[in-house]
Amino acid sequence: MTLVLDKFRGLLPKTKTSPSGWISFNAPCCHHRGHSQDTRKRAGVMFSEGVVYNCFNCKYTASWQPGRTLTEKFKTLCRWLGGSDDDIKQMVFEALKTESLDYEPEHFVEKVKFTEKELPEGTMSIEEWINSGYLPDISEDIGPVIDYVYSRGFDALDGNFYWSPAPGYIDRVIVPFKYEGKIVGNTARKIKEGRPKYLSDQHPFFVFNVDAQDPLNKYVFVCEGPFDALAVGGVALLTNEISQQQAHIINSLGKKVIVIPDQDKAGITLINQAIEYDWAVAFPNWGADVKDSADAVLKYGRLFVTVDAIMSAQEGEIKISVARNNLEHKLLLEKLKDD
Ligand SMILES: [Zn+2]
Repeated sequence: MTLVLDKFRGLLPKTKTSPSGWISFNAPCCHHRGHSQDTRKRAGVMFSEGVVYNCFNCKYTASWQPGRTLTEKFKTLCRWLGGSDDDIKQMVFEALKTESLDYEPEHFVEKVKFTEKELPEGTMSIEEWINSGYLPDISEDIGPVIDYVYSRGFDALDGNFYWSPAPGYIDRVIVPFKYEGKIVGNTARKIKEGRPKYLSDQHPFFVFNVDAQDPLNKYVFVCEGPFDALAVGGVALLTNEISQQQAHIINSLGKKVIVIPDQDKAGITLINQAIEYDWAVAFPNWGADVKDSADAVLKYGRLFVTVDAIMSAQEGEIKISVARNNLEHKLLLEKLKDD
C-alpha cells in the first residue's frame, strides 16, 4: 500500500466491504453535482494496485494508480470526502514519488478471481467425442451440433466447442468459459429454435475470452455474446450492462478498447455504457440483415469486420452520441420498413 492509498482509505466512512471487494457508502458527490443527496449507499470504492471510485447514482468516477499524478477529479472527490488541503497536498506529494522508476508497486490487494466450475455432466470437446469409441452411437446427436458450429462459420474442432449427452444438452453446443487456464463456467447454446436459447453457468462479472487475447495486439474488441467474441477474436461481456469489475478486467489488458455493439436496441444500451467507461465504439458498415459480429464475420470475413471496426470506431461522448443517434434512426427506419 502506498501512502496515497492509506490516506484515501482514511477519508472513507467506516463501513463494510462486500465479498466482491466493493466498499459501499453514501455518495459524497451527487449533491455537489445537482443531484439529490444519496441515502442508499450508492458509492463504491475498490482498491487494487490503485483505487477506483464509482458513484452508481450520479455516475461520478475517479481513480488513481501508482505512477500517476492525482487528477483534479480525484482531488475533488477527496475534498468531498472531507479531506483538508493539507491531506491533499500530502497525497499529491506521495503520488509524485510513485512516478519514480525505482518505485515498485506492491502486489494487487484484490485481484479478480473466478473459481473453477464443472461443465455439464459427461462433457467432452467435440474433437474428443469424434475420436472416442462412442462415435457410432452418438453420431446422430452430435452430427447436427457439428453442422451448426460450421454453419456459424467456426471450426468445430478448434477446442472452443464441447458437447454433452446429458439430458437438456443433447441439442446444444457448449462453450466453456476459461480464465487463466481454468474452466470457470460455460454457456450451452441451443442449435435450433427453442428456449432457453442459452443455458449458462457463470460468475457474475465474468469476461469471456480474456485468455485468448494476444499481448501484442493493439486493440481489444468488446462484444456482447461469446460467438461474436470468438468470431472477431475479442472478449464478451455476456450482457449489455458493463460492470465496474468487467471494465477493470478489460482495461487491465492495457489495450485500446473498441466496443462492437449488436445492431439492435440492446446494442444502443451497450453504446451508452461504453461512453461512461470512455471506450471507443465501432459503428460497422454491415448490411441491414446483419445484426452481430458473428453474422458479419460469416458474411464478410474476419479481416473486413475487424478492420471496419477499427476504421469506424468513434471516440468521446460527443462523437459517439452523434453516431449512436444515427444508428437509432437507421434501426427505426428498418423497423418501419419491416412492419
Ligand atoms: Zn454521486
